[in-house]
This record gives sequence, C-alpha cells and structure tokens, in this order.
Amino acid sequence: MPDILGIHHVTAISGHPQRNVNFYNSLLGLRLVKLTVNFDDPTTYHLYFGDELGRPGTILTFFPWSDAPKGHRGTGQVVTTSFLIPKNSMDYWKNRLKNNDIIVKGPFNRFDEQVLTVYDSDGLELELVAHSSAEDRDLNVWNDGGVPFEYAVRGFYSVTLSEEGFERTAGILEEELGFSLTGQEKSRFRYKIKNSEAGASIVDVLCLPYTPSGYIGIGTVHHVAFRTPTDEKQKVLRNSIIKAGLNATPIIDRTYFHSVYFREPGGILFEIATDPPGFTTDQKPSELGTRLMLPEWLESERNNLEKILPKLSLPYPSTQSGVRKNNE
Ligand code: ZN
Repeated sequence: MPDILGIHHVTAISGHPQRNVNFYNSLLGLRLVKLTVNFDDPTTYHLYFGDELGRPGTILTFFPWSDAPKGHRGTGQVVTTSFLIPKNSMDYWKNRLKNNDIIVKGPFNRFDEQVLTVYDSDGLELELVAHSSAEDRDLNVWNDGGVPFEYAVRGFYSVTLSEEGFERTAGILEEELGFSLTGQEKSRFRYKIKNSEAGASIVDVLCLPYTPSGYIGIGTVHHVAFRTPTDEKQKVLRNSIIKAGLNATPIIDRTYFHSVYFREPGGILFEIATDPPGFTTDQKPSELGTRLMLPEWLESERNNLEKILPKLSLPYPSTQSGVRKNNE
C-alpha cells in the first residue's frame, strides 16, 4: 500500500456559512458531516461536507470568514477542486446548476474526461468531471442529498495546482508523496498516485510563469490535505519531508484526523492527514452534522461560542435520524 493514498480533504474560505450550506448541501447534494469551529480561531465555524460518512477523498471543508475580502486565484494556490460524477450525468448537472443561477462553463474535453467548470456562491472554482472511474465510487454517494443516485457526486476527482515554476513542486509530488507523471496537455501536467485503488488520486499542475500569485480570501482554497492510512506512515512521511529541506509542523490532533502541515516549494500549503479516526468518533453516523460539535477543551466555552457564531438553519434540524429516503 502506498504511504499516500490520494486527496484527504480540501479546505477553502467562504462567505456567509448559510449560503455555503445551501450550495454544497442543497444544490451539490453533499452531506454536512460536521459542524464545528476552527480550532485555531473558535469564533469561526468549520464546516465539513462529504459523502455519507465524510470518508477521506470526499471532504470539502470551509472556514466561513464573512467579513474577509474576496480572494484572488493565482499561482501558489490550489485553483480548482474537482468532483467526480458519472458519465451520463453531464446534462443533469448543467441543467440543475443553471436553473439555480449558478455560473457554469462547458462541458469540454480534457484527457479522457468531460469537464464542467462551476463557481460556487462565493466564486470558488470547482469542476464536475465525468469519468468512467465513477463506477468504482458508489460508496462515496450521499443518498439523502436530493440528487438521484445515478447522477450524484462521487467524492473528489482531482485538485489543480497553479505554479510559476514546476521542477521543485514536481519533485515533492514524486519523491515525497508517491505521485507519478501520467500525462500532459499544454501547460497541464497530470500526476497520479501509483497503485492507489482509492480514487481521488490525481493532482494536476498548471505551469503558469508570468502569472500573478494568488492571495487568500473568500472564494479561494486555503490548503489541500493528502491522506495516509496510519499514524506510523504519517511519522515516516514527516521525517522524509523535513529531510527534503521543508519545514513541517509537529503532528497536530484535529479530532477527526491527525495533521502535519508544510508549504511545498511553490508556496501552497499541503497537509498530511490520517484516515482514522474519522467523523464518527464523536457522533453516530445518523447524527453527523446535526448540531455544533466542539472538542473537549472548548466545551466550557459552548454558551459563549453559540452566542457569537451566526445562527444556521441546518439541513436536517428536526429529524435527528439523518437517514431519509430519496423522494421523501
Ligand atoms: Zn486541513
């Protein structure tokens, strides 16, 4: 088994959290698997969307910074986050998004896939990628998301990094994280994890010299996390990253996974996150995302935080069961 299996999660900055929930839950059909706070700034929410259980490879997370300036996509950033959809679902998605006044471009062809470019309610660039590998990802469907099973999102497909240069980022992907170059179209270089059965194992690098660097704000990605199966493998990866001359953080307990952060040579914040323990560590599968969860060290602050955090209308506030049939 490779040390890195693919993408674990992507974290981005959004505006108002309610708009964020409406887009990803009600429109894209992802499950809100965890409502918690930013552990480094507990007066801000941290929202996690994913498949039924928030399995690694499906999780898009947001820090809603309602008052922050708008960000700017550019080099040194993850510029696009791509979700996998079944091959027959392109028309469904184009109609569904357009009918909800979402900006949609495409579909266009790239490698052996069909791509729809979509901008979320805060301008974050997403793709819906139709590819045959969706057939192997039925497990990554959230059945109660209001999207018919045959069209539903199957977790991540890839992320796209924008880089001024190329060599040193490529070196880290290949030497440290186990990716291999598998294709090129114009300035897009495609890397994939060798021997990963897991899916969500593609990183595209856009080599764009003379392009302004991006800055973080609403509608941009904060970091991308790659998944590793165990704490032991994470330690080995961390040591190896430090030996390669990069500055890695200590291992940090994020309750739902353990994290190491480092900046790759092109300036993008990378994270190595463990698969365990996952989002059911503090809630039953049926109750995921139905109420604000806090780590133990913040429970004494709950009353204060609930006053400060914006009120949210959650997807299933009254059922508590969380398990509903389609068409209900
Ligand atoms: Zn993260």
